[in-house]
Amino acid sequence: MKMSQRLNKLPPYLFIEINRKIAERRAKGEKIISFAIGDPDIPTPAHIVERLCQAAKDPANHGYPETNGLPELRRAIATWYGSRFQVHLDPDKEVLPLIGSKEGIGHIAFCCIDPGDVALVPDPGYPVYSMGTILAGGEPHFMPLTEERGFLPDLEAIPQKVLKRAKLLWLNYPNNPTGAVASWDFFAEVVAFAKKHNLAVCHDAPYTEVAFDGYQPISFMQVPGARELGIEFHSLSKTYNMTGWRIGMAVGNAQMIEALFRVKSNLDSGIPQAIQRAAIEALSGDQGCITEHNSIYQQRRDELIAVLRQIGLRVTPPKAGFYIWAKLADSYSSEKFTLKLLEETGVAVTPGIGYGKNGDGYVRFSLTVPDDQFKEGVKRLLTWRGGLG
Ligand SMILES: *Cc1c(COP(=O)(O)O)cnc(C)c1O
Repeated sequence: MKMSQRLNKLPPYLFIEINRKIAERRAKGEKIISFAIGDPDIPTPAHIVERLCQAAKDPANHGYPETNGLPELRRAIATWYGSRFQVHLDPDKEVLPLIGSKEGIGHIAFCCIDPGDVALVPDPGYPVYSMGTILAGGEPHFMPLTEERGFLPDLEAIPQKVLKRAKLLWLNYPNNPTGAVASWDFFAEVVAFAKKHNLAVCHDAPYTEVAFDGYQPISFMQVPGARELGIEFHSLSKTYNMTGWRIGMAVGNAQMIEALFRVKSNLDSGIPQAIQRAAIEALSGDQGCITEHNSIYQQRRDELIAVLRQIGLRVTPPKAGFYIWAKLADSYSSEKFTLKLLEETGVAVTPGIGYGKNGDGYVRFSLTVPDDQFKEGVKRLLTWRGGLG
């Protein structure tokens, strides 16, 4: 059978590779401790699951949903943005529920990118920004995120001839995988830059609620002018431990929201309605669970950082997100380190190279590891110290 050319342009999805290696060793009976997966280990809060069960029993939720979701859900999203960020959205024109934000992140390329167009994409970065671009026939231009610049891209370093073809600028703060956060000033610089070069901006912001030490990440939508040229992707996945339910949202620029709705209405039939009801409960109900989860992540963050420093890795404590981005000694590539660590301790991490070539020299530890496994992982890392030579 002859598959499409575009299919050949996609490299294998990073996490599938890692999962396969881990599965192989587990099949041999080995106990692997994985710090490689960014998926909350803590269950969805009970009041949200309760609402889901109740909604599942109601036949009104058994039919096809609308692509753009229940009006009540769009209103709940707008209200949440209003109270959390003081961003006031029109629920019918500036809000679009998604089947998980990854879905919209992939599909927005079909709205903004024609064959030959360029999308500006952070490196290291979440792989979907570039994969969506490639599937739409476009070309990613990678913007290096370096430690010296606080993992913010140097917009002025983008070549003029690239900018002429560029349609879309991707950003993600709090950042996966680096843990970096963006300031108001940086977002204001982005707005001015995008306006000057006629770029649409997509800000991917699933980690704004996972934050430590009293720090409160901002939304790109708070910055004046952002709504005239960009949208923000958000998600219930990381905020409410709802990765498996698949529900997120895009908010902001009405023209981009309408375009995304048009693409989606031709491809999907929206989010199962019981899940939408659960999401309304999550967004409008008691928010205390967020503080609880964050204090668990913060404890793990501090414990893991102390251990990583003992084994010779360089780490800046992240203010937000649930990842530790650890710098390796110069003698290590991220792949060599990851394989050696897995081989010798049965501990899995994510090699930085999986997020782009500027990710090499780093590995990512996720803090979403259940306490007993976390303890065992930390123990193995400490006994491994000698292995680092
Ligand atoms: C987890 C994650 C997402 C996807 O979240 P879903 O809403 O579950 O699809 C998007 N972007 C980044 C950077 C993530 O880490």
